[in-house]
Amino acid sequence: MQCNVCGGETFLDMNGRLNVRCAKCGSLERARVLKMILDESGILKKGTRVLHFAPEGGLATYIKGIVGDECYDARDIDIERYQHVKVSYFDLVEACHTLPTNAFDLIIHNHVMEHLPCNVTAVLYHLHRALSDEGLHVFSIPDLPLNFHPAAIRAPAVFDTPFGAVGATGGNA
Ligand SMILES: [Zn+2]
Repeated sequence: MQCNVCGGETFLDMNGRLNVRCAKCGSLERARVLKMILDESGILKKGTRVLHFAPEGGLATYIKGIVGDECYDARDIDIERYQHVKVSYFDLVEACHTLPTNAFDLIIHNHVMEHLPCNVTAVLYHLHRALSDEGLHVFSIPDLPLNFHPAAIRAPAVFDTPFGAVGATGGNA
């Protein structure tokens, strides 16, 4: 078996799951599936504008190498976690409405939404708004019951936007 992100051939166990983490680049299945989707889509090329939240190490290096430093924008709320790539501080709950419109060709986030202490509907709305017309928004959310942040369940989400307040209620119940 070979890692499709870095070519590594050794895989480590993680949390009781056998042979899931690439020993070379650290990728998990979610990153390797995302890599497959990106390859299939053909979207990655020099100049593709990428917004990547919670950037996975191997994947970040791979994407950045193709699109170029100036087109790769990695962000997270906890920038101390990242050594492999420059990551800018960004709070998706407080600041997603500040993202520019029609500004990115590819927006990626794996296992991020379930950590946000809000209703993610408005966050997803603003991420979509930031996407170009031909852009691709690829993300994964764990398919596990009660996996969302407790505050996300039935919490109202209201954001000030240039168009007024955007609100949503609901949850995963
Ligand atoms: Zn790898």
